[in-house]
Amino acid sequence: MSDQSNQVEYFCQPETLAVHAGIKRSQFNEHSEAMYLTSSFVFDSAAQAAARFIGEEPGNIYSRFTNPTVSMFEERLAELEGAEQCVATASGMSAILACCMGWLKSGDHIVASRSIFGSTVNLFGTILKRFGVDTTFVSATDVSEWETAVCSATRLFFLETPSNPLTEISDIAGIAAVAKRHSVLLVVDNCFCTPILQLPLKLGADIVIHSATKYLDGQGRVLGGAVLGSRKLMEPVYHFLRTAGPTMSAFNAWIFLKGMETLKIRMDAHSANALSVAQWLEKQPNVLRVYYPGLASHPQHELAMRQQKTGGGIVSFAVKGGREEAWRVIDSTRIVSITANLGDTKTTLTHPATTTHARITQEARDAAGITENLLRIAVGLEAPCDIQADLARGLQA
Ligand SMILES: *Cc1c(COP(=O)(O)O)cnc(C)c1O
Repeated sequence: MSDQSNQVEYFCQPETLAVHAGIKRSQFNEHSEAMYLTSSFVFDSAAQAAARFIGEEPGNIYSRFTNPTVSMFEERLAELEGAEQCVATASGMSAILACCMGWLKSGDHIVASRSIFGSTVNLFGTILKRFGVDTTFVSATDVSEWETAVCSATRLFFLETPSNPLTEISDIAGIAAVAKRHSVLLVVDNCFCTPILQLPLKLGADIVIHSATKYLDGQGRVLGGAVLGSRKLMEPVYHFLRTAGPTMSAFNAWIFLKGMETLKIRMDAHSANALSVAQWLEKQPNVLRVYYPGLASHPQHELAMRQQKTGGGIVSFAVKGGREEAWRVIDSTRIVSITANLGDTKTTLTHPATTTHARITQEARDAAGITENLLRIAVGLEAPCDIQADLARGLQA
């Protein structure tokens, strides 16, 4: 294999890294990244096998923890996030699990934003709790609550910004300063922005999480995830992955490599379309409120514009009425897909209270502001006027 990753120093713009970073060519000199569908790798000798297994010699061993296509994905995303190392995983949730299993033990404590992905709330609040890890949920936006929640057992801060679905913006630098003061790791789920719009490590975060399922693929095909940070911080995460096996498949890594090549132009287009839809929604008489960080009416518009390049692709809005009126908008659409996924070329529409946030308690839903009249739209790459016409039908009914 000829390692071309040294080219990276000549190409430092994100769109260039997204196309070139991490490429390793085989002896056949293929131009496009190769897909290595093999579970194991052959050694030249018993001595080489031994050297590889104890880590004395670098190289591939077994695809649970080493595969060239997956390594190319890891290097490309690490370059984009400005991280020393990336550990690829089977899904976004297994990335969060691998991070927690690598860094936490029974008796440890997490402080997490109340406004995080529903499954992450469940992972922390029910599953990790059974293993003796307690979580305190705090405001995404009030930095002082993070400070107050810290105790001697606190090891990890966890947040997502913008949050799902209300697009609340957490002040990454502000919360990172609290984390540093108490020697706590700050973990940021960067799924909604991707490294094209936001670089949490540059703002002081220690670890970045991705659900590659969303914008990194960008076309709604496969599941994957990633944990990124310094070599030191990734060491126990990699050890957990190598041992427990929530591994990204080579096929999925290849899909993500191809997806990342268009990440910049897609994020720009998603953002422009989302802004257009959000501005249009603000003018609709049956819309009570629009949540989009790119709008001047967003309570943290200034922080958002300082921290991320655009408002991103996710818009939420509250309609006049309750569940019935919200469901009517969904059921009147003809183009927009009724699905919980996001980050797809196709626009998707969800009712968070009865889907993504249905498994959390009513109390947790109320605390997170997930009301019955709320809808979340992940704006795709269709013409904004077609998306607007599709939403208008249910809003005017
Ligand atoms: C989808 C999502 C996850 C989980 O990712 P999967 O790939 O579905 O496991 C985590 N965080 C955020 C913000 C998400 O949107």
